Amino acid sequence: MSERPVVLVAGASRGLGLELVRQFADRGWTVIGTARDVTRAHELIRLQGERPDRISIKALDIAKPESIAALKAELGGERLDVLYVNAGIMGPSHHDPRRVTDAEFDELMLTNALAPIRLAAALRGNLRDEKSVLVFMTSQLGSIARNEGGGYDLYRASKAALNSLTRSFVAKLPSPRPTVLSLHPGWVKTDMGGTEAPLDASTSVAGMVDIVEAARGTGGHRFLDYQGKEIPW
Ligand code: NDP
Repeated sequence: MSERPVVLVAGASRGLGLELVRQFADRGWTVIGTARDVTRAHELIRLQGERPDRISIKALDIAKPESIAALKAELGGERLDVLYVNAGIMGPSHHDPRRVTDAEFDELMLTNALAPIRLAAALRGNLRDEKSVLVFMTSQLGSIARNEGGGYDLYRASKAALNSLTRSFVAKLPSPRPTVLSLHPGWVKTDMGGTEAPLDASTSVAGMVDIVEAARGTGGHRFLDYQGKEIPW
């Protein structure tokens, strides 16, 4: 078994997930990056080729319970020090609750809110070290307290639901519990964040990896941005 700490990044084919893989590996972690279509995760494959001793790739479509079950079986009893649930989607670009179809709403809620909790529940047993950390990539837009202007209604609802499900999940976790973080990456230039975003992925991820490393063994559940600032629920 590796001496290095091990992180699994769920949703690592591009954007923030890919950058998380790069930076955790740079800091000496063993990294398992997942992609829903491993054959098309070209950047992740290239990164893995540069660091074959540190990075491995596994398949996961977070929205499919059978895919979560297959990953769980593949991991077996392997220890994870950090489970970083990053995968997420924006949903329909109109963001309008009056226009969204049931299928679109189902997909958004399943992917962003329910599937991360299903994955955490499935792999919880792998986070057995008392210093382990469970991270959910949420968004400041999921803060009900900060929602004064509206907009992005459906995506907001999906991340608010993720935050709520996370609180309930954490409350029922048996001891010893991992430290749990709900992290907001900032508004970041990725396929989702778009080119107008003020932050680059490397700055955002550097902040979040610092937070994860510092959180090991601290306990509790916090909602923080990439700079470590508390966000109201
Ligand atoms: P991208 O759209 O660039 O990347 C999304 C990632 O999620 C891809 O790797 C994608 O994989 C993966 N993914 C989506 N659906 C699934 C699925 N069903 N199963 C497995 N993987 C899936 O987004 P970002 O990198 O910007 O966002 C990452 C996270 O950060 C998300 O949770 C997002 O909500 C959150 N966030 C982003 C912000 C930003 O400004 N960028 C702001 C606040 C939060 P694939 O390549 O297969 O589609």
